[in-house]
Amino acid sequence: MIQPPHNNRLQRTALRAAAEPERSATKSSVGADMNPQHYLFVDDRALGVCVFCGGVPDTRDHVPSKVFVDDPLPDHLPIVEACEACNQGFSLDEEYLACFLEAVLAGSTDPEKLTRAKIKRALSRNARLVSRLEASVRVDDNGTMIWIPEANRVQNVVRKLARGHAAYELSLPEIDEPAAVTFQPFLTMSEQARQRFENAGSGELRGWPEIGSRAFLRACGADPYSDTVGPWIEVQRGRYRYSVGQDAGVIVRIVIAEYLACEVAWE
Ligand SMILES: [Zn+2]
Repeated sequence: MIQPPHNNRLQRTALRAAAEPERSATKSSVGADMNPQHYLFVDDRALGVCVFCGGVPDTRDHVPSKVFVDDPLPDHLPIVEACEACNQGFSLDEEYLACFLEAVLAGSTDPEKLTRAKIKRALSRNARLVSRLEASVRVDDNGTMIWIPEANRVQNVVRKLARGHAAYELSLPEIDEPAAVTFQPFLTMSEQARQRFENAGSGELRGWPEIGSRAFLRACGADPYSDTVGPWIEVQRGRYRYSVGQDAGVIVRIVIAEYLACEVAWE
């Protein structure tokens, strides 16, 4: 359900912007043709709620979490407000998913055979996780390794990431339970399904984004934060990209490691 713009917040922002012109001006890297008022709105990330649970936000959290991207980190890794419990509460599942994907891609849990330095380190010091990953491997009749993910953990992470992206892009927390959370490797998708997925956003952002939201800025062609490739926002090439569409509801699509295609939809 799309909520109306948060007028109080906009008013608050406008007041703060008027009171702090210097701070805002120095933080801006928007081109000179950009209406600075718009930038000031978007610079107010303070939605006043934890974007994951709607609770009191005492911390800030990166979306995606750093475990999904490599060092050096992208310059403008999106940041959202979160409560302490949410900030900490997803870490293990996120580490699990990042390690699981890396193991699947390498066909092994042996740190020596993995590509990502961050995941090598994580698995080198976590024997429990290694054995948990190894327990998820099956071998089919043809001798092919099949990796069975812990679906509830993957779903937990995908929903969390999508909430973060929706809040960041639309300035609109999606606290309600989504109508659907799906994830599957590109390899298992039909060509048609893949095409539909890849075309995310093109024609889908028919809703009018709130003034000052990132979706608004991107629609204006003013995007000082990250690379956009078509409808996709590329956080780090080959590692992580996402798109946020807004029409009758909100649809967030995420691609992790150019392997796992995730989709979360709110009505
Ligand atoms: Zn929370």
